Amino acid sequence: MGALRITTRKILSPEEADRFAKSEGGYFPKPQYCSGLQFLLTSKSKNQDSLPIGVVLLGDTIHCFPPDIGQGVNAALEDVCVLDEALSQTNDDISQALPLYESLRVADTKALIRLVQIAFPWQYGQDPFRTKIWRINFFLRLVLSRLLPFLFSPQAFFLVQNYQLSYQEILAKVDRTTQIIYVLGFILLFGFLVVVAWQ
Ligand SMILES: Cc1cc2nc3c(=O)[nH]c(=O)nc-3n(C[C@H](O)[C@H](O)[C@H](O)COP(=O)(O)OP(=O)(O)OC[C@H]3O[C@@H](n4cnc5c(N)ncnc54)[C@H](O)[C@@H]3O)c2cc1C
Repeated sequence: MGALRITTRKILSPEEADRFAKSEGGYFPKPQYCSGLQFLLTSKSKNQDSLPIGVVLLGDTIHCFPPDIGQGVNAALEDVCVLDEALSQTNDDISQALPLYESLRVADTKALIRLVQIAFPWQYGQDPFRTKIWRINFFLRLVLSRLLPFLFSPQAFFLVQNYQLSYQEILAKVDRTTQIIYVLGFILLFGFLVVVAWQ
């Protein structure tokens, strides 16, 4: 089978190419999620039995974000697995399976969106100052998690690569480490102020 070759000029006019070259380009969406993952309708069949009809959302339709942490496809595949699990648990009864899917999936979807906001958000150089703060935070967590792994978790960017952890579990680890850092920071600051006041 020969390869199909189409010259660019045949599919793109010079005006369109010019417009594209001069355009500012698009923007990635802000991380966002949808909490309603399904909708059930009922319809009367010819023999007057009511049949459940469902609309179900998966993938980017329920969690939409820039490709910062490479989780779009992974999360979409997880949605499929959770829907499959819900259908199995309910013997393919759509009226039960879709609400079950929603209840199983929504919290993880919410956690995923929070993780996208904090894991690696400044990689396009949008804000130099916030990029610096993020880098300090990143390396602080990296060092602390290497020195005291029982107390501190690695930064979220590393944790999302562990497929055995759900997004909710990852967020819980990240939040716990944040709390410990705040407490230690407060103790250090308090100790410093006491020493200064003492002298
Ligand atoms: C630049 C970039 C880099 C990315 N990098 C990664 C990565 O490294 N790792 C990762 O996991 N994810 C990555 N993603 C995200 C990933 O591509 C998406 O999360 C994933 O494709 C979502 O799958 P989906 O099936 O939900 O949607 P899509 O893949 O968008 O599928 C939707 C389909 O529906 C079709 N469609 C739309 N409207 C209609 C209509 N009215 N009628 C019929 N068909 C329609 C579209 O043509 C499309 O084929 C990246 C995304 C981008 C933009």
